[in-house]
Amino acid sequence: MRIVLLGAPGSGKGTQGEKMAAHFGIPKLSTGDALRAAVAAGTELGKKAKATMDAGKLVANELVYGIVEERLAQPDAKKGFILDGFPRNIAQADVLEGMLSKLKAPSISTALHLHVEDEEIITRLHSRALKEGRADDTEDVIRKRIEIYNADTSPLLDYYKKQGKLVTLEGKGELEVIFKRIVAAL
Ligand code: AMP
Repeated sequence: MRIVLLGAPGSGKGTQGEKMAAHFGIPKLSTGDALRAAVAAGTELGKKAKATMDAGKLVANELVYGIVEERLAQPDAKKGFILDGFPRNIAQADVLEGMLSKLKAPSISTALHLHVEDEEIITRLHSRALKEGRADDTEDVIRKRIEIYNADTSPLLDYYKKQGKLVTLEGKGELEVIFKRIVAAL
């Protein structure tokens, strides 16, 4: 099971991805979490990424490739993995395929898309901002992140659809109900 999670910021990819990882016993990699950890630790990578992340924009592709390549090369990723927040654009998706073939690993099996309306996304991100205080969950930045998702990331829906790998599920509703839908669909 080699899964890419797709969906706007706040669509529930992180939460559902965690549950899927536990359920299927495979690792999950969130490039956003990895970058936030790098920022918190003050590493070179974190220093390069911080301002761009705070503005709600995508960091340079090259900054995330190392994170993904390193994680996918670890032994526990051999039996499968879940990617949350990567790829974010077509160039990254092509590079991901290259990484997998270099590792002699099979290609992505499913791109799981959690569909949630924009208005619902904005409401969810506002409440996450209050709870978690993420620097990129402010009003302007939320709009920017949705704009970038629509412009750069949503073309991946078509990319994976053409490969016959896209599964779209409704991401609004009870967490457990959505999780059951995901398990049933995979
Ligand atoms: P996320 O937690 O997935 O919403 O990611 C938070 C932020 O990290 C994004 O707004 C980007 O600035 C950065 N980021 C995460 N993943 C990527 C990626 N694959 N490519 C570029 N930037 C990323």
